[in-house]
Amino acid sequence: MSRALVIALAAAAVLLGPAAPTATAQYPRGGARPSQQAVGTWWDRTAPPLGRKLPTSRYYSIRSDLSPADTKAYADHLDVMYDEFARRLVGTTGLKRRSPEFPNVLMFAKQQDYLDTLRTQFGINGIGSGGMFFVTPRGAGLAFWVEGLPRQRVHHVVQHEGFHQFAYAFFGNELPPWLNEGLAEFFGESVVEGKRVIVGQASPQAVGTVRAAVEQGKHIPFPDLLLMDSARWNGNVQSQSATARIQYPQSWSMVHFLVYAEDGRYEPMFSDMLRRLNNGVKPLDAMKQSYSLDTDAEVSEFEARWKKYAVELQPGAYVSARGRLEFLAEGLREVWGKGARPETLEQLKAAMREAKFRFTANAHGYSITMDAADDANFQVPDDAVNAKPAVIELVAQKPPKGAKQRKLEDEHPTPPMLRTRNLRPNDVGIQWYRNPSDPSEFAFEVVVN
Ligand SMILES: [Zn+2]
Repeated sequence: MSRALVIALAAAAVLLGPAAPTATAQYPRGGARPSQQAVGTWWDRTAPPLGRKLPTSRYYSIRSDLSPADTKAYADHLDVMYDEFARRLVGTTGLKRRSPEFPNVLMFAKQQDYLDTLRTQFGINGIGSGGMFFVTPRGAGLAFWVEGLPRQRVHHVVQHEGFHQFAYAFFGNELPPWLNEGLAEFFGESVVEGKRVIVGQASPQAVGTVRAAVEQGKHIPFPDLLLMDSARWNGNVQSQSATARIQYPQSWSMVHFLVYAEDGRYEPMFSDMLRRLNNGVKPLDAMKQSYSLDTDAEVSEFEARWKKYAVELQPGAYVSARGRLEFLAEGLREVWGKGARPETLEQLKAAMREAKFRFTANAHGYSITMDAADDANFQVPDDAVNAKPAVIELVAQKPPKGAKQRKLEDEHPTPPMLRTRNLRPNDVGIQWYRNPSDPSEFAFEVVVN
């Protein structure tokens, strides 16, 4: 097989941090199967019994050491996303398959098994990544790990990398990085509720990063980004340059613009551009042809329209609320562990400020820090969907039933619930899970109320 196929898709890796999860299995729904713990390598442990095939979901073949319930939940999630990719990308455009499809998914309970397996089975360095889609002569597929991470963050990885996996069958490596990553982020930011995928979500971090870059003239000029190849893109990520910090959110913003701007008037041209790329037209030519950008002046004018859009775009209330609940849960866990017992959002804010709490998430070589000093992080912004302003509140846990549970709660009380009110399409909250092997430790999930 040619070297061209040895693509350790470094750019496809979503970096998650701070990457020092506790050494416990993911405990929300039961962790690894006890019978499979510490016997042989992950690869051996997840191999099907002799003469049997790997388990499959509707679209994927799966190796997993998560609990059966967790494996099914992620497989269902991937299947829902696959339908969405197919509906949005193939259903309306008639794209044709150009490359082999690699519908393999590797789900890891532990980060170390993810790193070891990628290295020994496929020769890939997965350090710093939460997941990736990879193609090598020794195999290809989507791999991710879940250890100690809120499900919401794993979902972002799975949706982002799932797009790369899906798109590979139609474009091989021919999608320009801005479009490949912009679309992956477009789907990564979406929210899955049951079988419904809510796309087009704009997180405050992405919106704010791009707006600041445009206002300060630090965005990447259109022609530069459109012509950027994978080598330069990945080089920026590896060197952690200022360009790396903006290239993912700007690409996301450009896709958002091309799909939604001016009441969706560019959307048919977007489909047209995908068709041209699928037919092998060079990326910049495809864009110029589809959007009738014949001269440099027309490209500049188009760029000016995007800049206006990027500056005016408002973050969505729903995705903001989910992100802020996660931030508040991290903060509450921190101050709770030190003995603070806030009962209201105001008290939580005071405790987090006293602790000078900040939370940093690394994504794609750039990091986003949320600070308790910022009032915005304790509110849900208004948007067009929300008729009534949504609020975040703390709710005390119900008294436990049974003597054993009561004793546990006396010794190590569960933090109060965090939840929204008046949020559309539905309210969300934080559910706490006690670590069975250390009752003083809690994990959390964002759940739909
Ligand atoms: Zn990517």
